[in-house]
Amino acid sequence: MVDLKSQYEHIKPEIDQAIQSVIDSTAFINGPSVRQFQESLEKYLGVKHVIPCGNGTDALQVAMMALGIKPGDEVITSDFTFIATAEVIALLGFTPVVVDVDPDTFNLDPEAVRKAITPKTKAIVPVHLFGQCADMETLMSIAHEHKLYVVEDACQAIGADYIFKDGSRKKAGTIGDVGCTSFFPSKNLGCYGDGGAMYTNDDALAAKLRSVANHGMVVRYYHDMVGVNSRLDSIQAAILNVKLQRLDDYSEARRKAANWYDKAFENHPKLKIPVRSPDSTHVFHQYTLVTNNIDRNGLQAFLAEKNIPAMIYYPVPLHMQKAYRDERYKEGDFPVTEHLCNTVISLPMHTELDEEQLEYITAAVLEYVNR
Ligand SMILES: *Cc1c(COP(=O)(O)O)cnc(C)c1O
Repeated sequence: MVDLKSQYEHIKPEIDQAIQSVIDSTAFINGPSVRQFQESLEKYLGVKHVIPCGNGTDALQVAMMALGIKPGDEVITSDFTFIATAEVIALLGFTPVVVDVDPDTFNLDPEAVRKAITPKTKAIVPVHLFGQCADMETLMSIAHEHKLYVVEDACQAIGADYIFKDGSRKKAGTIGDVGCTSFFPSKNLGCYGDGGAMYTNDDALAAKLRSVANHGMVVRYYHDMVGVNSRLDSIQAAILNVKLQRLDDYSEARRKAANWYDKAFENHPKLKIPVRSPDSTHVFHQYTLVTNNIDRNGLQAFLAEKNIPAMIYYPVPLHMQKAYRDERYKEGDFPVTEHLCNTVISLPMHTELDEEQLEYITAAVLEYVNR
C-alpha cells in the first residue's frame, strides 16, 4: 500500500545525516530537533502551538484529558473510523456516542451529530477521513451553540486545507479546540517509528496539554494533575524535520496518483470514485473506491494474485465491533457506514507511484470489474 523504501532512497543522505547528528549529540529525549520540528510545524500549519507527543492515539487521549471531560460525559464521533478515535473515549470512562457519516465524503454528518446531542454531551470528535476535512464550519457552529469542545482527529489529513464559505482557509486540525495527528510511518507525514502531535491556538490549553503529556507536571517533580508520559523522541523529530519540507510535494504526488485513478474509473457503473468536497483540499491518505454490485473480496483476491495490495478500510462499523457493542446500538442503525464497510476498497496510495504502476493497477481493477 505504501513504498517507504523508495521514498527513503530519494532523501537518504539528509535522513542519515539527521539521525547521525542526534546520535552524536546524545540528546535523545527533548533534543533541539524536537523544538525545531515543533516550530516548523507551527509555521507550516499557521497555528500558535504544536505539542509533540508519542503517537496519534496519545494525542487524542491527552487532548481529552486536558479538556477536563469527566467520566460519564458523552463524546460524539464517527461510526466509520479507525478504532483509536473511540478507544480513548472509552478508556477514559467517557461514553462514545457514534453517528453516521456522509455517503460522499465519509465524514461526520452534521445533522446526525445535532440529533445525538444530549445534556451529557461534552465534545465532538470529527475525523478527517482518508485525507479530506469534515464539514467543520457546520460542526463548529453546532459546537458553539451547545457549548461543546471540538477535538479534530486529523491523523489522516495533515496538510489538507479546510475552505470556509468566505473563501478563507485553515489547515486540518487547526479549527477546533485541539487537533491531533499521527506520524506513524505510513501516514502522510510519517516518521520511522511512532510519533504524534497536538495543535491548538489557546495558550492556557497548550500549557495544559504539555503538562498532561509530561506526567501532569508544570514545575519539575510537582504534579498538579494525573498525566501520562508521551513524547516524540529526538531521532523521530530529526527525520520529520527533513520530511516536513517535502510534505506539500508529497501531497501533490498523491493527488497526481488519485487523478490517474479517477480518470481510469470515472463514470464506471460499478465503481464510485472519491468525491472531492468543495470545502476541502484532499491529501489522499487513502484512495478509496465504493464498489457497486461486485464481489469486493473477489476483487481484493484477484489484485493480490497480481501482487497489487488493496485494503478494506474499514470492514466493521464501530458500533458492530465486539469491544464496543452495547444495548444502545444494533445492526441497521447506521446504514451509510454499514454500506461503506461492505463496499469500500482502497488501492495503493503513496508518494512514489509511477505511471507504469498506475497503469498496471488500473488495468487489473478494470479487468476484474468488466468481466
Ligand atoms: C492512525 C490513526 C490514529 C492513531 O494514530 P497512531 O499514531 O497509530 O496512534 C487515530 N485516528 C486515525 C483516524 C488514524 O488514522
